[in-house]
Amino acid sequence: MTARVMDGTSLARRIREEVAAGVAALTETVGATPGLATVLIGADPASEVYVRNKRRACVAAGMRDLHRQLPAEASQAQVADLIDELAEADEVSGILVQLPAPAHLDAEEIVARIPATKDVDGLTTTNAGLLAQGRPGLRPCTPSGVIRLLDEHSVALEGAQAVVVGRSVLVGKPMAQLLLERNATVTVCHSRTRDLAETCRNADVLVVAAGVAGIIGGDAIRPGATVIDVGIHRGEHGLRGDVDYDKAVEVAGLITPVPGGVGPMTIAMLLVNTLAAARARHGLGQP
Ligand code: NAP
Repeated sequence: MTARVMDGTSLARRIREEVAAGVAALTETVGATPGLATVLIGADPASEVYVRNKRRACVAAGMRDLHRQLPAEASQAQVADLIDELAEADEVSGILVQLPAPAHLDAEEIVARIPATKDVDGLTTTNAGLLAQGRPGLRPCTPSGVIRLLDEHSVALEGAQAVVVGRSVLVGKPMAQLLLERNATVTVCHSRTRDLAETCRNADVLVVAAGVAGIIGGDAIRPGATVIDVGIHRGEHGLRGDVDYDKAVEVAGLITPVPGGVGPMTIAMLLVNTLAAARARHGLGQP
């Protein structure tokens, strides 16, 4: 069996076009264009690339690019002042602080200053709590992108056995909660899980976000299962994921590639969140 490949690039393109239409409509209705403030502290090369891509996507969707940059040696107070200024600013619909922040800064305290209504990364305690309680709020971009990919391919979630590998605040935990919200039976694996491959073999839907290249081989996949690879690793031969793709593609029913799977969806969902935050600010729906 060879799996069908889930094309995140084309779905993300479609979502970005939908967002662009939504931005144009909102601008026309309320006379204000949504704006995204990305915040980069320092000059970490990978973070610079991520931020540049987010800014480009934001501009391509017709939003205002309100990027702000601070030097690597910025103090906690300087970062806090910037976040407070963006929190107050009317033209800022969404604030995204690119993580990781330099080691001398308290990243949790920085994120905590972002108002929940502008938290387009869905990382504040308020938005995490709303997700945990199943109430509306801004959801983290990567896991919500995974749900969109699953829906696009009509993957049945209700009653399905879903296994999430990884329990980070950014990906694993919100992923598990979104799958639970969709009535999947969810198992979360982590570094102390006793037999990872055996647990993963129970999955109808397997989402891997461990940050360990190739940790999931063909032996960890139930024949016909849906396999979502969130991992990104840069090597000599380009990008690869947490799943051993060549082995997995022979066993799975559906699979995401790396690159071209979850990655593009993350940026698309950031735009979705920014538009939703802007609309909510003008009393047009909930995020
Ligand atoms: P993270 O914060 O490092 O979390 C990794 C999680 O995987 C932890 O919960 C850890 O368990 C678990 N884990 C580590 N080794 C394991 C093992 N051997 N067996 C089972 N579980 C293991 O990473 P993250 O931020 O969630 O990101 C995960 C991956 O996704 C990374 O490769 C990252 O680059 C990628 N990513 C991609 C996107 C995208 O847009 N495609 C977005 C975000 C992240 P413990 O909790 O026990 O330590």
